Amino acid sequence: MTDTIFGKIIRREIPASIVYEDDDILGFRDIAPQAPVHVLFIPKHQPIPTLDDAAAGDAALLGRLMLAAAAYARREGLAQDGYRVVMNCREHAGQTVFHIHLHLLAGAPLGQFGTP
Ligand code: AMP
Repeated sequence: MTDTIFGKIIRREIPASIVYEDDDILGFRDIAPQAPVHVLFIPKHQPIPTLDDAAAGDAALLGRLMLAAAAYARREGLAQDGYRVVMNCREHAGQTVFHIHLHLLAGAPLGQFGTP
């Protein structure tokens, strides 16, 4: 995998506030939160820089990222009020870390998004 700051978090080379882990997925708090709850979910083993690099064989992993976020939200009591999941792909979406990741945003009503 092309190494990124998230690779260092997976290997515990730099600190992170890890709030979720299973065999395939790590979840940790975003260092610059955009909502009261802002957690990033990343694959621990597969080398996928962006969603555009994902292939049919990655379908299960992409599903597991979503289900990990949903499980975390349920566990933390966020599911009833609701939440948003976002995956940025490359420049126009503002992707800055090229290790595929899913943002979970929750904890308050969220503003609109998606306009330039
Ligand atoms: P994106 O813009 O979709 O690539 O999201 C990358 C996210 O990673 C941003 O929201 C950053 O705040 C977050 N981030 C960068 N470095 C760290 C770090 N060391 N620990 C936690 N979150 C980070």
